[in-house]
Amino acid sequence: MEETKAHQLHVFFFPFMAQGHTMPTMDMAKLFASRGLKATIVTTSYYAQNFSKTIEKSRAFLGTQVEVLTIKIPCSDVGLPEGIESVHMVSSPENRLKFFEACGKLRTQLDQLLKRHRPDCLVADTFFPWAPNVAAESGIPTLIFHSTGYFSLCASLCVFLYGPQTKVASDSEPFSTIPNLPDQIEVNRDRLPVDFLREGVVENEFSSLYKATRKMEIGGSYGVLVNSFYELESGYVDHYRKVLGVKSWQIGPLCLYNKRAREETENSVDRHECLKWLDSKTPNSVIYMSFGSVANFNDEQLMEIASGLEASGKLFIWVVKREKKEGVKEEWLGEGFEGRMNGKGLIVRGWAPQVSILEHVAVGGFMTHCGWNSTLEAVSAGVPMATWPIAAEQFYNEKLVTEVLRVGVEVSAKKVVRRVGDIVKRESIERAVRRVMEGEESELMRNRVKGFAELAKRAVEEGGSSCLDLNKLIEELTHHRSNSS
Ligand code: UDP
Repeated sequence: MEETKAHQLHVFFFPFMAQGHTMPTMDMAKLFASRGLKATIVTTSYYAQNFSKTIEKSRAFLGTQVEVLTIKIPCSDVGLPEGIESVHMVSSPENRLKFFEACGKLRTQLDQLLKRHRPDCLVADTFFPWAPNVAAESGIPTLIFHSTGYFSLCASLCVFLYGPQTKVASDSEPFSTIPNLPDQIEVNRDRLPVDFLREGVVENEFSSLYKATRKMEIGGSYGVLVNSFYELESGYVDHYRKVLGVKSWQIGPLCLYNKRAREETENSVDRHECLKWLDSKTPNSVIYMSFGSVANFNDEQLMEIASGLEASGKLFIWVVKREKKEGVKEEWLGEGFEGRMNGKGLIVRGWAPQVSILEHVAVGGFMTHCGWNSTLEAVSAGVPMATWPIAAEQFYNEKLVTEVLRVGVEVSAKKVVRRVGDIVKRESIERAVRRVMEGEESELMRNRVKGFAELAKRAVEEGGSSCLDLNKLIEELTHHRSNSS
């Protein structure tokens, strides 16, 4: 499948500006580059800077080259302060909507870059539903990248197309999400990812964007790229393609392709202190807790987590998005918590090397918000989960983990957190930690998830299902280019 320099296919990647979208896109760009294609990422200068280290590492260890072109978010056009370059830099719901609005104004910049560089294909994020039209004006096909898996794609599309949520009497009454499938998966309106799918809710910038993304998914692009593998959710891959009729390729788990470059760094001097801490612990003895790159809990919730963890008696790594300020007392930790937990647990502030933590033999469970990347990273590392979905399609991912794959237990968050959010109590947290870390149920889940981890590794190897699907896609793009030139 090596492309010669003279006929090198050129693919543009245009991810939404959030870690959960840019990170798998970077892995995808490196994967395409490793197949001899030219890969260029279009993003803000914040991410361009973030990417420079990983691009350098993969050039050094894998010999792949990824280019980056920058665009500028028109913040002042929508009333945002200048310099907002990623969704995690805005915290209020109002400003998040403005951020989405500003992203809708990137058309001209994308158009200019496409005209100047003339790539053969655009891989655009699902949050840019206007991108296929912009690319089509230059005769360039667009593949859509959803930063999620097939199960949630099927569930989201079925809810959008058939509206089962309109046929129940209350927000808590269950309904079946995906008709005609062996698994009867029920949700209720309280757990739907966007407000407008519930009754009596006025549309906003995000809900109209959501509708546009679903419409584009069913026929508005060349096809859909999915970070998943066939053996994980085969029934849903088939349903998405054959019943819902969406052309798609599964090429994941993307986190597995980057293993070599990651290992090289972790063996180096700048190995994160939490990995060294894990080295001193016995296998499966530590629970890892993290809720992704966006979610942020209030003090009350953090206090419940601290108490639940302590009561569970398990060793832990807990990632908290709070800076430690010298001399400032942190109420949410509770009196004497850090002293009592010395040696038993580690609080990582801000950012943790999640994939490496999950791959560490000492980690026996993962309390997660069920973001798709986190879910797939846990599956790929063979780690059972305690699921605590917070927003977006995370409730669908929870269903996949707990009811379809049966590799996790619910912590019991009842609703999508919209503004204030319900507090999950310490007893539920303690119970979930124990269930995922000890006893027969935990053993069964661990064995099952380790089986999926094996299948994941095989999927990305030569001849594996994801590797073959990627081959097919590259062949198709090559034919498409020959036919149109
Ligand atoms: N992540 C990480 N360290 C952190 C927090 C997050 O490496 O401290 C990574 C995680 O491994 C995953 C991504 O950020 O790849 C988060 O994506 P996900 O889809 O799980 O959740 P989101 O952040 O989009 O809510």
